[in-house]
Amino acid sequence: MSSENQLSLFEESNFDQKDLIPTNAKIPIPPGSYANLTELAQHCNQCHRCGLGDTRRNAVVERGNPKALIMIVGEGPGQNEDETGRPFVGKAGQLLDKILASVKLDTDRDVYICNTVKCRPPENRVPSTDEMAACKPYLLEQIRLVDPKIILLTGATAVKDLTGDKRGITKIRGQWMEWEGRLCMPILHPSYLLRNPSREQGSPKWLMWQDIQAVRDKFDEISNT
Ligand code: SF4
Repeated sequence: MSSENQLSLFEESNFDQKDLIPTNAKIPIPPGSYANLTELAQHCNQCHRCGLGDTRRNAVVERGNPKALIMIVGEGPGQNEDETGRPFVGKAGQLLDKILASVKLDTDRDVYICNTVKCRPPENRVPSTDEMAACKPYLLEQIRLVDPKIILLTGATAVKDLTGDKRGITKIRGQWMEWEGRLCMPILHPSYLLRNPSREQGSPKWLMWQDIQAVRDKFDEISNT
């Protein structure tokens, strides 16, 4: 082999950069990296772009309909999610399903559910800024592939991660905002509702009822255009 040919073996083009995505945080994940959600989920399950990959049992990527009009983004997986590999399957997830059902939205048909980080933070702590930054390209790819018309951001962490808005969730919940041309609404996290069971006017559950009705109205409006 000529020395020229030997040298060409070390050119970047001889390495498949995409194969390095889940193992090397320095390799970017540009928009369009994944042809489908199955490819993305495979990478998440072998990913070590942040330390959360060291302690997970399963990456928690998605549940629901990948063609849904509504995407729901939560904070991160808890114990039940880590064990099953599915987001929002514990008590908070069961409550979320009931909230959706109260306005006749079906979890398997009408929504696609995911999280800001795909691996469980130890002791259910809030994911760090670095962990969210490492995982965000996967979330952006999910948004690109699912192409939802409405994104519901559950809790302040999800709002901050996607939009950069650092305001408290009680100040901005229920308000429609635009992000990258998509309608988003911050809503209270279902686990917050579990800790605040009152249904009185002005209570977290009452506020959620107002918000989910507004979401249903917008869903109908978009579905009929
Ligand atoms: S949380 Fe995201 S970036 Fe971190 S290891 Fe898991 S999949 Fe990779």
